[in-house]
Amino acid sequence: NDRIQGFDNELWQAMQAEDVRQQDHIELIASENYTSKRVMEAQGSQLTNKYAEGYPAKRYYGGCEHVDEVEELAIERAKTLFGADYVNVQPHSGSQANAAVYMALLNPGDTVLGMSLAHGGHLTHGAKVSFSGKIYHSVQYGLNEATGEIDFDEVAALAREHQPKMIVAGFSAYSRIIDWQRFRDIADEVGAYLFVDMAHVAGLVATGHYPNPIPVADVVTTTTHKTLRGPRGGLILARRNEDLEKKLNSAVFPGGQGGPLMHVIAAKAVAFREALLPEFTDYQAQVVKNAQVMADGFIKRGYDVVSGGTDNHLFLVSLIRQGITGKDADAALGRAHITVNKNAVPNDPQSPFVTSGLRIGTPAVTSRGFKEEQVALLTEWICDILDALHNDDVIATVRSQVASLCAEYPVYR
Ligand code: PLP
Repeated sequence: NDRIQGFDNELWQAMQAEDVRQQDHIELIASENYTSKRVMEAQGSQLTNKYAEGYPAKRYYGGCEHVDEVEELAIERAKTLFGADYVNVQPHSGSQANAAVYMALLNPGDTVLGMSLAHGGHLTHGAKVSFSGKIYHSVQYGLNEATGEIDFDEVAALAREHQPKMIVAGFSAYSRIIDWQRFRDIADEVGAYLFVDMAHVAGLVATGHYPNPIPVADVVTTTTHKTLRGPRGGLILARRNEDLEKKLNSAVFPGGQGGPLMHVIAAKAVAFREALLPEFTDYQAQVVKNAQVMADGFIKRGYDVVSGGTDNHLFLVSLIRQGITGKDADAALGRAHITVNKNAVPNDPQSPFVTSGLRIGTPAVTSRGFKEEQVALLTEWICDILDALHNDDVIATVRSQVASLCAEYPVYR
């Protein structure tokens, strides 16, 4: 028996339970998605056996001729997808891609200006608990509390005051289009590099539903597993700049990683091929439509959406006026098999562990086939629960409606 089942039933049961959870719950975590069976086929392949330190045709190991081809395919497809001249497909994760950018462009102690975690930035944009806030001198910008949009006057003022060597743009929780050129102008004024982390919106960027930062940024990173719907991993992209390319490649290997995960790189290649198909563009258009239908639904039911709506795949619901915490809302929805995450919102009176908001994203539900009709229904159910947070009958009713909808829209057909 060479299967997990029957050999390691303890593990198998946990894996099966997760399979059932993914099928039976509605997934609204903005950073998650359901990747294709093809992507999983590549990730579960014999390519996991191969060491390939170095880069195609410049390896430190023998027997790399076939994995060289795999990596070249991934690189070429990513270049086509995003219009980049340079791509590194080796970062094991988004955080490692970001760490490589810091290592390539900065020295320890240099000043970096990034968006704060509490206002929608990522840990790696300078949070104190991350390498980015420990090794580098981090200064943080945020949102205008009245509009819920990035405060470019604050970004410019902080840049003039602190003279950062690098400005980080990009987000984990921001629902509006970012005009990358505004960041470029501020970076140019103070002589800083502009680094854009497009992890959340890479799928939208690839299909023209969000502005592409590559033409204006010095360097761009992304994860491959969010809107892009590939395997868990990272990617670095840039325009032609030989000096920078060398620094970025060395910062990934040997700077921060050893052998690349060739099975994951193969899975990235599959995902990029899928993303180049016309269906993927239709999918991303539906992701945005669904997010807008949901945001409007919350507003109609009397809930506040930060910045008043969304231009992308996610939005934040502020529950400050209702006096509901994100933690309680997340728990109540979880009991109805609706998975969201609590999130801080502007002017949040609660701690980051409690919060007064929810982050809601549509990439996963759109992958399982939900369109406007289904997400409108779903929004009503969520509001029914938020309106009566501790009402077990409402939760039970919604849970059974969720079960029927999930059965009608299986994750994998
Ligand atoms: N960058 C952004 C903007 C993210 O939202 C995330 C993940 O949530 C990352 C980077 C980190 O990616 P990973 O979890 O693969 O390290």
